[in-house]
Amino acid sequence: MNPSPEFNFDNTYAGLSDKLFSRQQPTPVSKPAMIKLNKALAEQLNLNIDALQSDEGLAIFSGNSIPSGADPIAMAYAGHQFGNWVPQLGDGRAILLGEVIDRHGTRFDIQLKGAGPTPYSRNGDGRSAIGPVIREYIVSEAMAALGVPTTRALCAVSTGDSVRRESMLPGGILARVARSHIRVGTFQFFAARSDIESVKLLTDYVISRHYPDLKQSDNSALDFLKAVMQKQISLVAQWQSIGFIHGVMNTDNASVAGLTIDYGPCAFMDTYDPETVFSSIDHASRYAYQNQPAIAQWNMANLAQCLLPLINEDEKKSLDAAQQVIDSYPEQYTAAYLQHFNTKLGLSLQQQQSTADMDLVSSLLKCMTAAKSDFTNTFRTLSKCDPGKVNDSTDTQLLAIFDDQTDQIRDWLRRWRERHTLETNSAAERTAIMQQSNPAYIPRNHRIEEAIQAALRNDYAPMEKLSTVLASPYEEQSGFDEYAKPPAEEEIVKATFCGT
Ligand code: AMP
Ligand code: MG
Repeated sequence: MNPSPEFNFDNTYAGLSDKLFSRQQPTPVSKPAMIKLNKALAEQLNLNIDALQSDEGLAIFSGNSIPSGADPIAMAYAGHQFGNWVPQLGDGRAILLGEVIDRHGTRFDIQLKGAGPTPYSRNGDGRSAIGPVIREYIVSEAMAALGVPTTRALCAVSTGDSVRRESMLPGGILARVARSHIRVGTFQFFAARSDIESVKLLTDYVISRHYPDLKQSDNSALDFLKAVMQKQISLVAQWQSIGFIHGVMNTDNASVAGLTIDYGPCAFMDTYDPETVFSSIDHASRYAYQNQPAIAQWNMANLAQCLLPLINEDEKKSLDAAQQVIDSYPEQYTAAYLQHFNTKLGLSLQQQQSTADMDLVSSLLKCMTAAKSDFTNTFRTLSKCDPGKVNDSTDTQLLAIFDDQTDQIRDWLRRWRERHTLETNSAAERTAIMQQSNPAYIPRNHRIEEAIQAALRNDYAPMEKLSTVLASPYEEQSGFDEYAKPPAEEEIVKATFCGT
């Protein structure tokens, strides 16, 4: 007999004003089955794996049973979707069970996504198909392994019920874990209602949960804005550095803890093209790869707007102070971007080199665009080139990627090696840094699609295999060569769809 799952919930959000959420129980499902349990994450959260794998664990992850200590709620939020203001969104298909403290003392939300309707469901059914559940599981865990701040996937289950989308599809539920699920849109919800008291409550809460150092600040609201912006900058710079396209950077999908959240229409680029868009509903290409940094700034301006009444009683002073923060975005972003791309090139950040370094990065990207080269494999191949001297065998591998651009790339390699003469650590150390920042494996869209299609036939082996290789993305693993390859022409997935 297995012990019952003991979560040791320590809920704080559900104890704040009930204006922030609605209490909501999950709606039971008919025949739940486990798709995948994330044992490493369960351990980190001090959960008993045997108990989670028992019938009772399955009942909890499917919403059929409420674990002791849970206080299920759906959170209220608003947001700009594709630039358009929507005053009320909220968790329409997600229910927060509660918060737990992990092995390192960090607080995490545990949420069931796809667990039935809530007061915020609008016309939706509160459910999720298993395709998007599997996509989110694979990609969010890959992001964590790549070192990108993200929500996590604790467990995926199928429900035994169908959901109606373009066709009838099997339903699924994802147990999502996050440092928190508070978004820019959560602030907007209250600011738009001129409920300054709730904005203040939320700000104080988020500061003590995510930015405790700011408690002592003279202007905590302004410093909070700066801190969130800095986290968003660092996040988006990281996305750019691995070719990740979020696809739906609405303000309700902008985490104030700086996490990647909402894996609806996201995808990694194969061929490098800054104009890449995957989402089939993004008709204006608002969330193209190259637009992501500017969109994050726009989202931060929306957060600033919410915080104005808290920054200064004097409207003008408040606006000026917030504007100054938002105006500092481009410079901060450029620094973060260069930090990540320099690391990819094995270079340290050197103040007096930054203009030349930016040019070095841009030249490479320009050649990559012209040669339509694979983003991930180009950088991975480069990371095998010796930064100290010409090596015909590895250089040739890189040149081979660039067909008609070989002269340009030969010249680029020369410039790259010249720049490396300014570095003080050993060439071997620089190579190691490059190999730890240029992944060999990313969750390529055609592989995710393959895993989903197999899952729809009740075959979870491809999902397992993909998850295994993506758990160590910076290590080349024997027997997994196929997973490093870009899709063949007929395997290319043209668009990903919103998970709704
Ligand atoms: P998303 O595009 O996933 O960020 O969702 C935007 C909004 O629509 C959020 O408020 C979601 O909770 C809500 N939503 C998405 N799908 C559903 C669904 N199937 N049922 C109810 N609400 C949904
Ligand atoms: Mg969302």
